[in-house]
This record gives sequence, C-alpha cells and structure tokens, in this order.
Amino acid sequence: MRGFTSADGHGSGWRDGRLHGGGGNGCIGHACTVTATTEPRQQMQAGDSRGKRRIVARIVMKFGGTSMAGTERIRRVAQIVRKQQAGGNEVAVVVSAMAGETDRLVNFAREAHALYDPAEYDVVVASGEQVTAGLLAMTLQSLGTPARSWLGWQMPIRTLEAHAKARVGTIDADRLIASMESGAVAVIPGFQGLSDDGRITTMGRGGSDTSAVAVAAAIGADRCDIYTDVDGVYTTDPRIVAKARKLKAVTYEEMLELASVGAKVLQTRSVSLAMKAGVRVQVLSSFTDESAVSADDLPGTLIVSDTEMDALAKEHDMERQLVTGIAHDKNEAKIILTRVPDRPGSVAEIFEPLAGASINVDMIIQNVGRDKGETDVTFTVPQADLARAQALLEDRREAIGFGRVITDSNIAKISVVGVGMKSHAGVASTMFKSLADRGINIQAITTSEIKVSVLIDEDETELAVRILHTAYGLDAES
Ligand code: ADP
Ligand code: ASP
Ligand code: MG
Repeated sequence: MRGFTSADGHGSGWRDGRLHGGGGNGCIGHACTVTATTEPRQQMQAGDSRGKRRIVARIVMKFGGTSMAGTERIRRVAQIVRKQQAGGNEVAVVVSAMAGETDRLVNFAREAHALYDPAEYDVVVASGEQVTAGLLAMTLQSLGTPARSWLGWQMPIRTLEAHAKARVGTIDADRLIASMESGAVAVIPGFQGLSDDGRITTMGRGGSDTSAVAVAAAIGADRCDIYTDVDGVYTTDPRIVAKARKLKAVTYEEMLELASVGAKVLQTRSVSLAMKAGVRVQVLSSFTDESAVSADDLPGTLIVSDTEMDALAKEHDMERQLVTGIAHDKNEAKIILTRVPDRPGSVAEIFEPLAGASINVDMIIQNVGRDKGETDVTFTVPQADLARAQALLEDRREAIGFGRVITDSNIAKISVVGVGMKSHAGVASTMFKSLADRGINIQAITTSEIKVSVLIDEDETELAVRILHTAYGLDAES
C-alpha cells in the first residue's frame, strides 16, 4: 500500500511500503509534526514509460477559491490542467471551494448555533469543495481529458484530532495512483478528510494547501504547484503594498513563520508538512493566458531548503536580506481578565479549559500585580474562537476568582520575519522606532529567533505594514 502518515518526528519512515509516524501537536508556526521520507520521484527520461503512457513527472496542482470561482474560471483551470497532463505528466488536482463559499457556509453554521458543534460545522463547510471537485472533473471530461473525483472519505484522507482544524493522519493513495496511472486526472476536494470514527472533518481555513502537500507526499510527487490569484510569494501582501517585491524563492523556515503570522498565501501546516516531507512547492498564478510560461519553467516562487536558497542566491547573484517579509493578521481577538488573583495556579486555571477546547492562545501578557494581590491577564485567541473562549471563561469566573472578561476584536498583529535576525541585532528596535515615529501604539510584543510581532490597533494595519516595508528597505524600485 502506498500512502502517507503524519508523525511527531520520532521514528517515522517507510514501513510495510507505507509512510508511518505517530501523533503530534499541530505544527503551528514552530516544530512540525509531520515526517515523511518519500523521495520525490525522479523525472523519468522521455521514452521511459508506465504502461502505455510516457511519463515525465508526477505533479500535484492545487487551485484556490478565486481560481475556482465560477464556470469560466473552472474552464481556465481545466485548460491549465489539461496542458500539464498533455506534456506527459501524471496529474492530481486539489481544489478549493469557490471564493466566498466557505465564508457563506460558516455564516450559516453561526446563524444556526452561535456555539456550534464542530463536527456538524465540518459537515456543512466541507460541501464547498465537493461541488468544485465534481465541476472540474466534468469540465475536464468535456475537453476530452479523462478525470475522476476522489472525495476525502473515498481515498480516504484520514485525519486526527479536533473537528474544524483536523490534522492530516494517513493517506491511502493506492486507488488514486492506479487511477492516475490509467491516464485519468485525479481531482481531490481540498480541506476535507475522514475522522477515526468515520465522520467528515475539515483542516482549518486555507486547509486545501495542506491537502495538496499531503497528497504530494503520499504519491511521491515531483512538485506541488499551488495556483492562486497572485504570481508568487511577495515581501508582503501585494494587495496592501504596491511596492511589494516578488521573491524568486523563500526558505521553508521563513515561509512557515510568515504563514503562521498571517501571510495567508499558504496555510501554515502545508509549509511544515512540505518541509518535513521534502515536498517541492511552487506558488504561482492561475490568472495567466495561453502564452504564459510553463509551470515546469518555475515562473512562481519556490519554497526551498536553506541550502538550496544559498545556491540560488549565488546562482542569481541575489543578496540575502535581513528581513524577508512582513505579515499582518486581523483574525485575532484580545481578551483581558481583570483582577485575577495573583497566586500560583491561577494562570494555569485560565488556560487549561482553553487548551482543552483546542483554542490556541497566542500572545500573553500578565501585568505586574497591583495591591490586594490582584493582576490583569491579557492574551489573544483566534477571532473564530472568541465566543467559545469567552463562554468557557465566564463559566469559571467564580472558581478562578477574577473580575471581568473584556474582549476587543479591533486589533491586528504585525510581524517581520527573516533568518538574518539570527545573526543581526537591531531588527526589533527598528520596528519599534518606525512605528513610534508615526504615532502607532504597541499593545503587546512577542519574538522568536526569526520573527518579531507586535499587537496594534486594527485601523492602523495598512499604515504599519507600509511603514515597515520601507523601513527594512523592501520596497521595489519604481
Ligand atoms: P487561494 O484562494 O488561492 O487559496 P488565498 O486568498 O488564500 O488564495 O491566498 C492568496 C492571497 O494571499 C493573495 O491574494 C494575497 O492577497 C495574500 N497574501 C498575503 N501575504 C502575501 C504574500 N506575502 N505574498 C503573496 N500573497 C500574499
Ligand atoms: N475553502 C476553504 C477555506 O476557504 C479551504 C481552502 O480554500 O483552502 O478556508
Ligand atoms: Mg488559501
């Protein structure tokens, strides 16, 4: 059996002809939990063959929501897929729901029940990808290209842990590979999987990127092309900063950090998975015409190892920057608990129920205890989890003994990322000074080895990103 299993990084690898591992913690921004040791398939020489077809490479192509938004866009996607397959490649395609569809479905779930059951949420939101997978398969067939859809439960893609933010567990790729070898394009709805107890799951917003990388690892793909509405990864969101520069390549480590702090071009887990499994990822645009450069000529941004990055920098005479990129995240909310008893154990009592409900807490500040042995505790959680977090805390107010729960969704996290920070000081102070010079107040700060993040007022997001982009010398020359 050929396939893929996620792992905690210990003792995983091929066993019984299948990729194995254990459980893990979800890879958000830091240590990755998925290990895969499949060697990407070497390109076969023209003239080699699998059955009757001459196979050049095995490629996974992923198309995001804007690429799949409506019949015309899907037809364009089908043409891109057809061209890739006609070049002699075996092709698996992973698709997102049409742009806006998942938001629409999430709103229905919220309207049905503010504190919805995540298992039923998954039933609702997974449907968007099922529609586009079927439509793309049909469109390919209409162009004369054999195609077959494979829903999350049909392969199956087994997932672990929480509904609504499930992690990829095992992928059994046998049927998929057989179908591709027979000459059909395999079309897979991204985002969705199957839990241990046989229920449909989804992998968190942006999860189709992770589905694509996981499928690429499972079938030993030569490359995983992530087609989106921009032509690569930029120094910051090009929709905010017109002077953002496209990066020819970015390291897994930096992309992981950028994604985890809000650069939504790739889902964080997809990057950690690609890094561990050694999947070669390219981000590129589907908004191109017939005359566009072939994906095989790598027109987009490659996500590469540090060693490859050094080689590329040498080859193209590029200087490696101190700061690689800037990201922002408006999807967090701040919670302030007032008059928390300043005693051992009270902080643990606050965060235990949140962890138990799989709510990720990001920045945490505990103010200096005031008189009467009380203190304020401030932290951030994803906005999507705010209502549940608030309810859990209110339930425990008396037991823990704090005053009030105050919430604020009008905040944004701005982060600067770059491996250069490991060896150079002064990145954080440039950030603080540049923001202060423009009167932007910093509410909280966190740092890692290659990142500095600050929390600011949401209304100042765009201004802050532009100021920092200029301050670190990232602006493109006009
Ligand atoms: P898809 O629907 O294809 O998955 P997403 O909307 O999830 O696309 O991601 C693409 C978007 O990511 C771009 O339109 C862009 O606005 C945003 N983005 C944020 N940061 C970056 C960045 N550093 N480089 C490129 N795009 C970025
Ligand atoms: N449709 C899902 C979302 O909007 C998954 C994805 O597009 O990656 O989050
Ligand atoms: Mg996306």
